[in-house]
Amino acid sequence: MKNNQSSKGLTILGSTGTIGVNTLDVVARHPQRYTVIALTANSNTKKMLEQCLQYQPQYAVMVNEQAAEQLSTELKHKNTDIEVLSGTDSLEWVAQLPSVDYVMAAIVGAAGLLPNLAAAKAGKRILLANKESLVMSGQLFMDVVHENKASLLPIDSEHNAIFQCLPASGLQGVRQILLTASGGPFRTRDIETLHDITPEQAVAHPNWVMGQKISVDSATMMNKGLEVIEACWLFDVNSDQIQVVIHPQSTIHSMVSYNDGSVLAQLGNPDMRTPIAYGLGWPERLDSGVAPLDLFKIARLDFEKPDYQRFPCLRLAYEAHQAGGNATIALNAANEIAVDRFLKQQLGFTDIPVLVEAVLEQVTKGTPRTLDEILIQDAESRYQADLWLNRHSPSI
Ligand code: NAD
Ligand code: MG
Repeated sequence: MKNNQSSKGLTILGSTGTIGVNTLDVVARHPQRYTVIALTANSNTKKMLEQCLQYQPQYAVMVNEQAAEQLSTELKHKNTDIEVLSGTDSLEWVAQLPSVDYVMAAIVGAAGLLPNLAAAKAGKRILLANKESLVMSGQLFMDVVHENKASLLPIDSEHNAIFQCLPASGLQGVRQILLTASGGPFRTRDIETLHDITPEQAVAHPNWVMGQKISVDSATMMNKGLEVIEACWLFDVNSDQIQVVIHPQSTIHSMVSYNDGSVLAQLGNPDMRTPIAYGLGWPERLDSGVAPLDLFKIARLDFEKPDYQRFPCLRLAYEAHQAGGNATIALNAANEIAVDRFLKQQLGFTDIPVLVEAVLEQVTKGTPRTLDEILIQDAESRYQADLWLNRHSPSI
C-alpha cells in the first residue's frame, strides 16, 4: 500500500506482542495519519494473520521460517498481495525501507538490537520500547542515532513521562530524575517465601498487562534496573542522578525534580497506549483511547524506598552500570537466560539474581567500542550463564 503524502509509513517490530497490539490499536484510531508498511513477529502466525487482514501491510516478517511459510499459504487463500518474509535479516530490511518514517521498536530482548540499529542508521523516528538494546549498546546506539539524525522517542512509560517533564532545552536546572516503580506483585510478600514463587504468580502484575519476560523483570525489579540504565543513555545523566521511587498505584509514571524545588510529574492510567500515542503524535497529542484519570477513585498516592535485600536485581543493575558496557551487556544476557529458565520451571525465582551476579563476576571491566565487540560480550555472557546452570542444580 502506498502512503499518501501526509500519512507516515510505519514498521512495527514485534507487532504481535503487547506493545505491538497496543500500537495498532492507537493507529486504528488515526487511519489517515499512518500507513502500516511492515509488521514483524517471531512465530505467532495466528495473531499475525489477523493483523495482516486488518491492517494490510506491504510486508509481514515471521522470523521463524516455518511460521512464514504457513502465513504465506494462509494469506494466499485470502487473496492478498502482502509479501511474507522470514529470517532476522528481514527485520533489519523492513526497519530501513525508504517508505518507512516511524519504527516501533517492540521486540523483546537482545533480538531487537540489530533491527533497531538498522532503523537508527536509516535516520528513522524510533519509538523505543525495547530497552534491552540500549542496555546492551548504549554509547554506540546513541552515536548512530545522532550521526544519522534519527530521532529517539521513549515509549517505556517512565521514560516517556520523564521526556514529557524535562525542558526541551536540556538538563539546565534539573536536580534529579525520580523513576517510579510499582514494586511488582511481591513488594509486601514475606521475604522468606520468595523462593516458592511460580511463573504464574510472577507474571501476574498488579497494574500492567505485559509480555512474560518484562512481567518477570518487574517482579524481580530487574526491569527497573534496566530502566535506570536506559534513562542514563536517553537523558545523558549518571545513575546517581536517578532515584527509584516505589509507587504502588502506578499513577505517576515518573518525575523530574528541579533546583528551584519544583517537581514535575506525568500522571495517567497504567495503559501503554498513552506513551505510544505520545510517541506517534509528537509534538502533537493524539486520542489514544485511554480513559481519563479519575483522581477521586485513586484517592491516594503512596511512595516507598526500594529494598535491595528484597530486590537484589536492582542493586546488580546499578553496579553493572558503574562497571561499564561489558557489565551491562552481561547483566542483560544473564537475565534473559535466567528468566527463560525460570519460566520453564528450571530455575527458582530467587536464583535469578544469583545467576546474574555469578555471570557479572566473570566480566572484564570496560566498554565495547564496536558492534562486534558487543555481540561477542553478549555471546560470552550467555555461555557463562549456561556453564553456571550446568554446574549448579538450582533450587526449585
Ligand atoms: P511480548 O513478549 O508481548 O512481545 C514480544 C514481541 O517480540 C512479539 O511480537 C514477538 O513475536 C517478538 N519476538 C520475540 N522474540 C523475538 C525474536 N527472537 N526475534 C524477533 N521477534 C521476536 O513483549 P512486550 O511486553 O510487548 O515487550 C516488548 C518490549 O517492550 C520489551 O523490550 C519490553 O521490555 C518493552 N516494554 C514493554 C512494556 C509493556 O507494557 N508491555 C512497557 C515498557 C517497555
Ligand atoms: Mg517501564
